[in-house]
Amino acid sequence: MKALRVEDNKLKLTDSAVPRREGEALVRMTMAGICNTDIEIARGYAGFRGTLGHEFVGVVEESPDRSQIGRRVVGEINVGCGQCGLCSENDPRHCPDRTALGIRGRDGAFAEYLSLPSRNLLIVPDDVSDRQAVFTEPLAAALAILDQVEIRASHRVAVVGDGKLGQLISRVIARTGCDLTLIGKHDAKLELAARAGVKTAKLDGAKAPGFDFVVEASGSSGGMEIALDLIRPRGAIILKSTFRGAVRLDTSRIVVNEVRVVGSRCGRFETALQLLESGGVDVEPLVAREYQLADGLEAMAEAARPGTLKVLLTN
Ligand SMILES: [Zn+2]
Ligand SMILES: [Zn+2]
Repeated sequence: MKALRVEDNKLKLTDSAVPRREGEALVRMTMAGICNTDIEIARGYAGFRGTLGHEFVGVVEESPDRSQIGRRVVGEINVGCGQCGLCSENDPRHCPDRTALGIRGRDGAFAEYLSLPSRNLLIVPDDVSDRQAVFTEPLAAALAILDQVEIRASHRVAVVGDGKLGQLISRVIARTGCDLTLIGKHDAKLELAARAGVKTAKLDGAKAPGFDFVVEASGSSGGMEIALDLIRPRGAIILKSTFRGAVRLDTSRIVVNEVRVVGSRCGRFETALQLLESGGVDVEPLVAREYQLADGLEAMAEAARPGTLKVLLTN
């Protein structure tokens, strides 16, 4: 099968074996999404080798759970050991022995087929299209913020970064009814958010600081400094960007202002699917373009161009 893989620090379109893991389901990918994490991994982040990709929708071809066969599914990306305390509470997201689809010790979704345990798979409701369902993983990641901090209607919240993730996060946080501002650099993307009812501001424009929460989703190393400029004393900064390399930071600003810093990664798929089904968040305007898997290298190059929205792969 065709697979887009990172090998010897290079991204390659290869002819690979169909992945078969003992006791797992085999899923034929129908659509996959490229996110910044994939681009960073291709540049060396996380030291991953293998097939890239963790955002997908597909059809189950084989599964120990026969009720899944032939069904359209999305899949939770973290696979735990199944035995530790976290796994026994059904939350493998921080299992020390976990693998993660296309990120850590497990081939991913930018291929004709992928393998995941049947317990990781969720059936996609009929009225959620592939183009919507492929956003389940990043939407869940956006929703994770609301599990980690309590945002109320009375709060002032800023999201830094008008890219794919910032756009999704803004749409999710707007639903709390808080006073939300999306801060970014790109006029077209600020307009896109404005059309979804989100208040926006230019990064270099005047902004009243003193936000209760700042979500850093800029995907760049300067985002944390901007967040520190905006946060009020004792406010919380939620970090969403993953990138290769270190950030230089004057940590005394965190100390003096007693700022809480919250790292935030994966969320729950079920809530995300429900939100897509209810039409609570419109994701389709975030699609930039679809490419065939065979044109995956071109798709990755396009996705890596600054300012590009969601690039999709089809199989
Ligand atoms: Zn992602
Ligand atoms: Zn575990």
